[in-house]
Amino acid sequence: MLVAEGLVKRYGETTALTGFDLTVAPGEIVGLIGHNGAGKTTFVEVVAGLVRPDAGRVTVAGLPPGRAARRRLGVAPQDIALYHSATVRQNLRLFGALAGLRGRALSTSIDEVAEALDLTGLLDRAVGVLSGGQQRRTQAATALLHRPAVLLLDEPTAGADPTTRRALLEVVRQRAADGTAICYTTHYLPELEDLGATIAVARNGRVVARGDRDTLLAGLPGEVLVEFRDGPPQRIATTDPAATLADVLATGRTPVAVDIRRPDLDALYAALEVS
Ligand code: ATP
Repeated sequence: MLVAEGLVKRYGETTALTGFDLTVAPGEIVGLIGHNGAGKTTFVEVVAGLVRPDAGRVTVAGLPPGRAARRRLGVAPQDIALYHSATVRQNLRLFGALAGLRGRALSTSIDEVAEALDLTGLLDRAVGVLSGGQQRRTQAATALLHRPAVLLLDEPTAGADPTTRRALLEVVRQRAADGTAICYTTHYLPELEDLGATIAVARNGRVVARGDRDTLLAGLPGEVLVEFRDGPPQRIATTDPAATLADVLATGRTPVAVDIRRPDLDALYAALEVS
């Protein structure tokens, strides 16, 4: 499992982490969300051992960051970090070997992960000629090869098309079911709903709220959008869509389309801003 306590990281005037606490249990998916600059990537870098915190403690499967912990950890960074002139298979062999896999175990693992992420037909192509979504899938594959106890996926579906997104989410779901502790950063709330993830909200370098979606969004305003045959559409923020809609209908105007939107991330961030 992953445990981070009181992480602080300063870059000159900027404090990227200001007492960041997060625990992810085996089999749990924690969706880490937050505005740009909230500290999510810095947290991932600290856990990966790429950045040393100024204070606080982190353990991966009970181990502090370092070579032993790295073997229990799979990281898919936000920016594609692959060898572009090498093939997908060569990249996977390299990352698998760095994680300690050898021989038949490595080959079998490459075949399994390639199959799960729909990369089988691309194994002998150079990474540099792949599409953005195919590179994303390759990047995710590098994190999965050695079946790590903890997975850190930093916006793995950024820029991915629906097919790539579905494949990635399915693999994440399976790994969690197999007992992997997964921390998944994203800007898409619906993905976290799909995954049944616990949501942790980062703001100003620390986690300020944690819970399931319904708990975090309870009581926040959603939106009712009504279009009329005559005149401009109406967009109304409300915590009681049924009552709002009834009020609109009571005016006697005839709607041609009604869209009820549940509270979203913007509503959650706005609520946290004032709390
Ligand atoms: P995003 O959603 O945009 O990826 P984030 O939540 O991942 O954002 P971080 O990338 O962790 O945020 O950045 C947190 C803060 O730390 C920002 O103010 C950023 O400018 C600063 N920061 C991060 N890395 C460095 C660095 N190497 N040098 C200086 N400042 C940094």
